[in-house]
Amino acid sequence: MSLREYARKRDFERTPEPGPVEAGPPEGAPHFYLQRHDATRLHYDFRLEIDGTLKSWAIPKGPTLDPAPKRLAAMVEDHPLEYGDFEGNIPKGQYGGGSVMLWDRGTFELLGDAPALKQIERGDLKFRLYGEKLKGEFAIVLMKGRGKGNEWLLLKKRDAFAKPGWDVEEYAFSVKTGRAQEEIAKDLPAKNSPKAAASPGKGSKKKVPATLHSRPA
Ligand code: MN
Repeated sequence: MSLREYARKRDFERTPEPGPVEAGPPEGAPHFYLQRHDATRLHYDFRLEIDGTLKSWAIPKGPTLDPAPKRLAAMVEDHPLEYGDFEGNIPKGQYGGGSVMLWDRGTFELLGDAPALKQIERGDLKFRLYGEKLKGEFAIVLMKGRGKGNEWLLLKKRDAFAKPGWDVEEYAFSVKTGRAQEEIAKDLPAKNSPKAAASPGKGSKKKVPATLHSRPA
């Protein structure tokens, strides 16, 4: 439920009432994963746990918290659940050869009025993400009658987590090991503290908001 109306009526600088903190994910919520994959072309692989498998889309420009752009997402084959946490190198010459970074992970809550597979069948799937980097409401919508029929658009809904101008490349580090893409490609060890290394921007010491770091309960 959106708390926008509750928040609109109150000035939390003046009232001791609690602010509009959105609830966490429902218990036992399914997982989602995003991998940054430096293959023939750099892209992001978005995976949602649905019906015992990972429904998967390849997103050339990556996801965004900016509600303005629509990001092309090509539906690809289902992946096994175990693939979600994968980070490492696919050997050259193998399918998808290149380095794979676990860019984000968390759980999601299905929105909309039908089961997930039904929504996919209809070409309009709505969900709320509880990731380390991606949060809030999204939709992924099939572009009907286009291309091979596997072209979807990923959209960020306008909510409290929407951030105009948000740039995915400022967050190019692993949530699993804190490594940059080149460090994964060179098989360098995990950073001691992935969270400490998890500041946006290369070499930036800037503090990131606590919400970016919080794991779903
Ligand atoms: Mn890929």
